[in-house]
Amino acid sequence: CGIIGYTGTLPAQPVLLDGLELLEYRGYDSAGIALQSSGGQIMITKKAGKVAALRGACAHADLLSCCGIGHTRWATHGGVTDGNAHPHRVGKVSLIHNGIIENYHDLVGRFNLQDQLHSDTDTEVAAAVINHFYQGDPFQALKHAISQFIGSFAFCVLFDDQPGKIFAVRNVSPMVAAHCEEGSFIASDLTALIAYSDQYFIVPEYHILTLSANGIQIQDMDGQAIHPDMLTVNWSI
Ligand code: GLU
Repeated sequence: CGIIGYTGTLPAQPVLLDGLELLEYRGYDSAGIALQSSGGQIMITKKAGKVAALRGACAHADLLSCCGIGHTRWATHGGVTDGNAHPHRVGKVSLIHNGIIENYHDLVGRFNLQDQLHSDTDTEVAAAVINHFYQGDPFQALKHAISQFIGSFAFCVLFDDQPGKIFAVRNVSPMVAAHCEEGSFIASDLTALIAYSDQYFIVPEYHILTLSANGIQIQDMDGQAIHPDMLTVNWSI
C-alpha cells in the first residue's frame, strides 16, 4: 500500500503514476489517482489491479492538472473492486488512506452517514466524517474528524474549493514530505521522492500539513506552526 501527493509546476498525472510504480514493492491490489484542475474540478480514475492498468485507463485523461493524489490499496475492509479502490469522494472531499479506521461502523451511526456511502470501505466513512465537519476550513475539519477516529491512518485530502492544495495527516502509518523547486511532495516512503529532492522530513503524527506549490505548512492540533527536522537522503545507502 502506498500514497503519493504532488502539487507544483509539473503535470501531476505522470508524477503520480511514476510514484505509484516506485511504491509497488510495498504490495497492493488496486490503484487510483485524483487530479484537481486549477478551478477545483476533481477527476478520479481508479481500478482494481496493477498500476499499469491504471496508467492505461489514464491514457486519455487531462494532463493539465498540476495537483493530485495517488494511492495503492491493500484491502482491509471491502473486497478488491474498482468501487472500493481509492480515492473516495464524499461531498467536497476526495480522500486516499493507508491504514484502518477500527471504529468505522460506529461512525456511520453516530453521524448518520449511511445514505452517503457507496463502497464497503472504512476509508469512505472517514471521507464522509471529514466532509461532515467541513465548513470551508480544512484544518478544523481534519482536526475534528481525526479526534473521532480510532486506528491507523495516513490521509491525503483534496477539497473541491481549495484548488492547488493537498492536506495530510497521519497516525502510525508512515508519510514523508519534501519541498523543492518543482513543488511539494508527500509519500509513504522516500523511494517516491528521491528523484526530486534529497531534503525531506518525516511527517509528525497528529499534525496537519498543507502542501501548496510554494511550500509546506505544518500545524499542531492547536494551530501553531511547526518547523520540521529536515533530513538529508544518504545516497551511499
Ligand atoms: N482500510 C482501507 C481499505 O481497505 C485502506 C487499506 C490500505 O492501507 O491500502 O480500503
